[in-house]
Amino acid sequence: MTILDEQALSTIIQMAQDPILILSEEFMVLDLNQGVEKILNNEKKQIVGTYLTQFCSAEELKQLVSTQLKQITLKTASNSFICHAVITHKAPSLSSPKVPQPLINTTTFQYLEAIISQIPASVYWMNTNYIYLGCSDSMAKLLKLASRHDIVGRTYTDLYDQKSAAFYKKSDSSVLEHGISLSLEEPLYRYDGVKLIYLSKKVPLYDELGNIIGMLGISTDITERKKMEKDLKLAKKAAESADRAKTEFIANIGHDIRTPLTGVIGMAEILKNSLDNMELKTEAHIIHDSGEELLSMLNSILDDIKAGNIHDGELHLEPFDLYECVNDLIKLERPTTTAKHLGLFVEIDEKIPQILISDRRKIQRILLNLLGNAIKFTKSGHITVKIKYLGQNNDFIKLQFGVSDTGIGIPQELHHKVFERFYRSSPSYKGVYKGHGLGLHIVKTYVQLLGGQIALISKEGTGSTFQFELQFKTPKDACLFASKPKQAKSLPIRHLDCSNSPLPLCLLIEDSPTALIVLQSLVAQTGCKYLSAKNAEEALQILKNTQVDLIITDIGLPGISGIEFSSLTRQWEKENHKTKRPIIGLTGHAREAAYNECIASGMDNVYTKPANVDLINTIISTYLSNASLAPINQAPLPLSICKTELPPTESELFQLERFVLLDREEGIKSCGDNEVLFEEMLHLMVSQEIPVDLEQMKLAFAKQDFETVEKLAHKIKGGGVYLGLVRLKYACQYVERYWKSGERALFEPLFNQAIEVIETTCQEIKF
Ligand code: ADP
Repeated sequence: MTILDEQALSTIIQMAQDPILILSEEFMVLDLNQGVEKILNNEKKQIVGTYLTQFCSAEELKQLVSTQLKQITLKTASNSFICHAVITHKAPSLSSPKVPQPLINTTTFQYLEAIISQIPASVYWMNTNYIYLGCSDSMAKLLKLASRHDIVGRTYTDLYDQKSAAFYKKSDSSVLEHGISLSLEEPLYRYDGVKLIYLSKKVPLYDELGNIIGMLGISTDITERKKMEKDLKLAKKAAESADRAKTEFIANIGHDIRTPLTGVIGMAEILKNSLDNMELKTEAHIIHDSGEELLSMLNSILDDIKAGNIHDGELHLEPFDLYECVNDLIKLERPTTTAKHLGLFVEIDEKIPQILISDRRKIQRILLNLLGNAIKFTKSGHITVKIKYLGQNNDFIKLQFGVSDTGIGIPQELHHKVFERFYRSSPSYKGVYKGHGLGLHIVKTYVQLLGGQIALISKEGTGSTFQFELQFKTPKDACLFASKPKQAKSLPIRHLDCSNSPLPLCLLIEDSPTALIVLQSLVAQTGCKYLSAKNAEEALQILKNTQVDLIITDIGLPGISGIEFSSLTRQWEKENHKTKRPIIGLTGHAREAAYNECIASGMDNVYTKPANVDLINTIISTYLSNASLAPINQAPLPLSICKTELPPTESELFQLERFVLLDREEGIKSCGDNEVLFEEMLHLMVSQEIPVDLEQMKLAFAKQDFETVEKLAHKIKGGGVYLGLVRLKYACQYVERYWKSGERALFEPLFNQAIEVIETTCQEIKF
C-alpha cells in the first residue's frame, strides 16, 4: 500500500456519504467522517476522544470484535443509525487535514477496500503523471474493466475517446498542477457510445510535506437528473407559451368584443332617449346599464393582463405634479362620496415637493383602485388619502401612501387572499358589491413594479388601510420645486383636523336631486358633515332625532314650503326647550322679494340660488362661529342673477333667444369650480332628471292640472339655475311666475315655449 493509496482511502472516508468511524481497540472514537457528524448532529471535535459505549451496548461492541462484524447500530435519544466501524491498532493523526498521517493498517485497508467496492459512485485516484492507481468497482464496471485493479497504470487515452480524454486532462490539470479542488459536470461516452453526464468532485492529495502527489475523484451519474431538468425546462417553456397564448387570446377577444359592445351601449342610450313609453324606456336603460357593466368588466380584465405583462423597462418615468394627480382623483370620486354622504379627506405632508419623477399613470391607477374600493366598501364615515414624507437621500425621496376607510373591513384570514387575481370576498351571486376581483391584483403588480410592497391593515367591521412606500426621483431643476405645495385652485385640499373635535353637522333640504348633490358637494368641501332631506316633512323628522348645527333649506319646497318649515322648526324648538339653530333659506327668486317673509318665519338669512363655494363658506363661517373650521375664502356675497321675475313687456316673454342656452362658467362656479362634478351633474340632469319631470309636466298640462305644471316648472328651473342653463331657467320661470301673477292668456304659449326650450337644451347638451 503506497502513501498515495493511503491518502486516497483516507480522503474517501472523509468524502464518502456513508457514515464511517475509526475506533481504537478500546472503542474510543479516533476519527470520523461528515456522515457520522450528520447523524449524530454533532461536530467531529466533540465526538473524537469519547467512547462508543455511549451509543451502543458493550455486548454489541464485543460482537463487533469477535465476529468481525463491520457494521454497528448507534442509538441516540431520538433515533438509531447503521454505521461502518473500523478498529485500528495505530493512533491516527488528526492534526492537519491537509497532511493526514497514515492511519490505516493492513486489516483496515482490506476493510476500506470493501467499502469502496460498495460505494455506488465512481471513485478513482491517480498520480501527478495522470496515471490511474485505483478505482471503485462501479467505475471499473462502467469502463468495462474485468476488475478494479485493471485500472492501475492506465491513462486517459487507454480508457476514453480522444475528445473526452482531452476534456478530463484539462480539468484534472488544475487539480494536479495548481492544487485546486473542482466540482464540475463532465461528459462520458460509454463503451456503447451513449453519452452520460457525471457530476465530479476532484481534490488534490498531499504527502507529509504538503506536496501534491495525486488526485482523488468521485463522479456521480446525473444523466437522468439532467434529462429531467431539461424536460422540466421544456415543460415550463411550453406551459408559459400556452399561458401567453391564452392571455393573448383573451386580450384579442377582449378588444374585439369592446368595439361592438360600445355600439350596443351607444344605441341603447339613443333608443332610451327616443322612447316615450316608460316601460320600454326602462328596458332600454337596463340594456345600457348591463352593457356598461360588461364593458367595465372587460376593461378590468384587459388592464390586469396589461399589468401582468409589464416588465421593468415598461415603466414610463416622467416629472409630474403629485398634488395635481391626487386632486384629479379626488375630483373624480367626489360626486360618489357626496352621493354616499361620506367624508373624503386628503393629507399630504407639506415637505413633499410638488414635482416628482415616477410613472404618474401607474400611481394614479393604484390610488384610483384603492380609493374606489374604499368608497365601495364604506357605508358611513370617511375615506382618507394620506401621503407621508419618510426621508430624502441624494436625488431620491421616500414617501408612504395610505388609503384608509371606515368601512366593512377585511377579516385577518383574507388579508393575503384579497390580492389574488379574481378574488372577491363577496362573490357576484350575492350581488352585494360590484367588482371583478382584479383591482387589488393590479394594485399589487403596479406597486411591485414601482419597487414597493403593499400592506393591508384591517379589522372586520372597523375599516381598512392599504399602505405602501415608494421612492421617487426628484428633478434637479430647482425651479420645479414649489416652496410650499401648491393646492389646485379648483378643489381646496383640507388637511385633516387632528384635534378630534367633532365636525359640524348641517341639514340640507332641497327637492331637486341635482341641486342637492351640488349643495352636498359644496358643504363637504368645507369639511362639514351633512344630512339631507328631499322635503320639509323629512327634515322635521330628522330634527326631532338629531342634533344638527346648521340648516340650509330651499324655499320653494313641494308640500310644506321652506318658510313654513322655518316657522314649524322655531315653534318646535320653543316647545321642547331646544336652542335655536341657524336656518338659512335659499331662494330661486330675487332675495329682496322673499327676505321679509323668511326673516319673519324665524330664518336667520336668505340668499339667492345657486349656492356656490363662496356663499357656503360665508354661511358656515358666519353661522357656525364655534366651528373648528376656518373658511377657505371670505368673499362678498354673490349678486342675485335673477333680479327680474317677469320681463317688462309681453313680447319679451317670448324673446328667449337673447339668453344663452348654457353658461358653462356659471355652472362650473356653482359646482365649487369642480368641472368634473359639473359635467356629471349636467349629464344626470339632461339625461335622467329633466326627461322625467318633462313627461310629468306634459301629462299635467294635458290633464289641465296647471298647479302641478307650475310646480314642475319651478323644480326644473331649480336644477337649471345651478348648472348655468340660462334659457331653460327663464322659460320655466316665466311659466311659473305668469301662473302666479293670475294672468292666463299667455299661459299656453309660455308652456309650449318652455317645453321646446327644455327639449332643445337636453338635445344640444347631449351632443
Ligand atoms: P373588486 O373589483 O371585486 O373590488 P379588488 O381586487 O379590488 O376587486 O378587491 C378584492 C376584494 O377585496 C373585494 O371584493 C373585497 O372583498 C376586498 N376589499 C378590497 N378593498 C376593500 C376595502 N377597502 N374594504 C373592504 N374590503 C375590501
